[in-house]
Amino acid sequence: MRILVVSDIHANRTALEAVLDAAGEVDAVWNLGDVVGYGPDPVWCLERLAALPPAVSLAGNHDLVAVGALSITEFNPLAQIATRWTAARLSSTHRAQLMALPVRSSVAGVTFAHGSPSDPVWEYVADSASATANFAHFETRLCFVGHTHVPSAACLGAGGTGATFRPLRSEDTLSVENDRWILNPGSVGQPRDGDPRAAFAIFEPEPARFSVRRVAYDIPAVQQRMRDAGLPTPLIARLARGR
Ligand code: ZN
Repeated sequence: MRILVVSDIHANRTALEAVLDAAGEVDAVWNLGDVVGYGPDPVWCLERLAALPPAVSLAGNHDLVAVGALSITEFNPLAQIATRWTAARLSSTHRAQLMALPVRSSVAGVTFAHGSPSDPVWEYVADSASATANFAHFETRLCFVGHTHVPSAACLGAGGTGATFRPLRSEDTLSVENDRWILNPGSVGQPRDGDPRAAFAIFEPEPARFSVRRVAYDIPAVQQRMRDAGLPTPLIARLARGR
């Protein structure tokens, strides 16, 4: 069984298409949230996901602000501009699709949260301290998160009191058959680890393996659509830097 794990698609159609192509045949898709926000293709990405449909699908902070479930004042000015642009493009069907999503769930003995198990909307699991604190907030052996836009793995060994945390590079494959793990596939639509290629992961449950993958996509085409949409220049520029 092969499961495609995606997060932080951020309305980037070209990156999502590249990821779906590169992933090949999969048995299920797990979406960890932030389908919309920042990018130029919110409607296309929502409708593509609705057509899949993912076996796990979470709402992220950008999804919730775009539908008015959280206050836009939580965002910095650039994210506010992109969110207002996004909100104006969503129909009542798109809004209902996003409103129906949980921010945390648990399926088949695995926990899922957009940010962290303890604060699924806003917290970043981005170092060993935040990982260590979060292992106390879920019961299952494995937890998948997104939100940081950086592929990573945190591990808590049997009897261990402190978690190890490390960012993952392209083509890193981890055996996660033993110990407890918080795993992050990185961002499809707006990577922030200096590698501008779209990030995703393949999870194989038996035996449990987590593989990070990167795929190049046509960044200038997305940047042109963002310019046509009048989205903020810094958000356009960062796609090419992967930061
Ligand atoms: Zn995000």
